[in-house]
Amino acid sequence: MSKPIVAIVGRPNVGKSTLFNVLAGDNISIVKDTPGVTRDRIYADVEWLNHKFTLVDTGGIEPESKDIILSQMRDQAQIAIDTANVIIFITDVRQGLVDADAKVADMLRRSRKPVVLVVNKVDNFDRQMMDVYEFYNLGIGEPHAISASGKLGIGDMLDEVTGYFDPEMENEEESEIPRIAIVGKPNVGKSSLVNKLLGSNRVIVSDIAGTTRDAIDTTIMHNGNEYIFIDTAGLRKKNKIKEELERYSIIRTVSAVERADVVVLLIDATEGVTEQDAKIAGIAHERGKGMIIAVNKWDALEKDDKTIYRFTEKVRNTLAYMPYAELLFISAKTGQRLPKLFETIDMVLQYQNLRVQTGVLNEILTEAMAMQQPPSDRGKRLKIYYMTQVSVKPPTFVIFVNDKELMHFSYVRYLENKIRESFGFRGTPLKFIIRERK
Ligand code: GDP
Ligand code: GDP
Repeated sequence: MSKPIVAIVGRPNVGKSTLFNVLAGDNISIVKDTPGVTRDRIYADVEWLNHKFTLVDTGGIEPESKDIILSQMRDQAQIAIDTANVIIFITDVRQGLVDADAKVADMLRRSRKPVVLVVNKVDNFDRQMMDVYEFYNLGIGEPHAISASGKLGIGDMLDEVTGYFDPEMENEEESEIPRIAIVGKPNVGKSSLVNKLLGSNRVIVSDIAGTTRDAIDTTIMHNGNEYIFIDTAGLRKKNKIKEELERYSIIRTVSAVERADVVVLLIDATEGVTEQDAKIAGIAHERGKGMIIAVNKWDALEKDDKTIYRFTEKVRNTLAYMPYAELLFISAKTGQRLPKLFETIDMVLQYQNLRVQTGVLNEILTEAMAMQQPPSDRGKRLKIYYMTQVSVKPPTFVIFVNDKELMHFSYVRYLENKIRESFGFRGTPLKFIIRERK
C-alpha cells in the first residue's frame, strides 16, 4: 500500500508552517533514536478518519527580497506538481489576493493536479466571509476558509483533500512487481546506476501511467524477473540555494521511498559516508522499508586489503540505527557487483514478506526468557505472555505483556536479536508493538 502525498504551497507568512503543525500534531515523522535525521518539519504522517497520507511542506527558507518570492513559489509549486497527489494552495485573507497568488494558481491549474484552495487567517467566519469570496477569482475552485492557528475549518478542508485520493492507490493490493527506490545525494551515481542496469538488462517499459512524474520509473527484467526502479535524480537547477535544494531532494526522496518495497541508498566511495547520507537513510528507516546500502564508485578508490573493512566500519557507525541493512560495494561505471545487487534485492524482498508461525515464535520467546529473565522494576517483573506476527513489509510483531511500562527497549532489542538469529530478516527492519493483557 502506498500512501498519498499532500503538498502545501503558498507565499511566505500565509501560515504554511502553522497549518503543517496543526495537521501533523505529534506525528512529525522523526524517529527519536535516529541520529542525523533532520529535525526540520518537512514531512509528517497524518491520519484523518480512514485516510493516511504523507504531508510535505514545500516552503523552505524565507526569501530575502520580494523579487525572488515569485520565483521561489514557482519552484515550490513545481515540486508539489511533481511529487504530490493533492496540493493544498494556501492564501491569506488579511493580505488579500496578490499577483503572485494568481500566477501560481495558473501554474497549478495547468498541471491538472487536484488543488484545494485554502484561505487562512479567517479567525471570524461571520465577519470575514465576504473577503474570502474574492479568492474565487483565482479560478481554481471554491475557497475554503480556515484559521490554522484557531483550528477552524480544518475538518472540512481535510474532507476535500482526502476526497481526491484514489481509492485504488490507498487500498492497493500487493503489486507483483517489486519497486526499488534508488536514493542518495546528488552526483552519487543514481542515474548512472539505472542506466547501467538498463544497458545490461532487458527493458520493458519506461513510463508507467498513474505514478507521480517526479521520479522516473523504469521496469527492468533480470533473470526472468521484473523490477521497477524508481530513480530520484533530477532537479539540477543551477543557482539554487543549498538549503532549498536539500529540502527538495528530501521531498523527492520521501515520495520515492513511500512507493518502494526496497530502498537502495547509494554512498559515494570517494567522499565517504556523510551526514546527508544519514538523513536520507533515516527516511527509509522510519518507513520500514527494505534497506540496501550500496557504496558506489568503488572502482575510483585506491584500495589496499583493509579498505573495505575500514569503510564498512565507518558506514556501520554512521548508520548505527540500521544494523539490519545490507551493505554492498559496487560500481555503476564498471558494473562491478551489479548481479550481486539483484541477488540482494531478491533476498531482502523475501525477508520483507516473511511470516513466522506463532508456534515457532513462542518457542523462541520461551527459550529467550529462560536465557535472560525479563526486566523488573520496584519488585514487579515483566511477564510476557505471547507473541505473534501481525503483518509483513515490514514484519511486525505484537508482544502481549502484563505491564507495558516494564518492557524496556533493550529487552525488545534482545528479543529482536533472537528472532534474527533464527530467521535472518536481513535487510529489513522489524517492528514491535507492545500490548497489555491483564
Ligand atoms: P509560513 O511562512 O507560510 O509558514 O507562515 P507561518 O505559519 O509562519 O505563519 C505566519 C504568521 O501568521 C505567524 O505569525 C502565525 O502565527 C500567523 N498565523 C498563522 N495562521 C493564522 C491564523 O489562522 N490566524 C491568524 N490571525 N494568524 C495566523
Ligand atoms: P546522480 O546525480 O546521483 O544521478 O549521479 P550521476 O549518475 O549523474 O553521476 C554523477 C557523476 O559520477 C558522473 O560524472 C558519473 O560519471 C560519475 N559516476 C557515477 N557512478 C560512478 C562509478 O561507479 N564510478 C565512477 N568512477 N564514477 C561514477
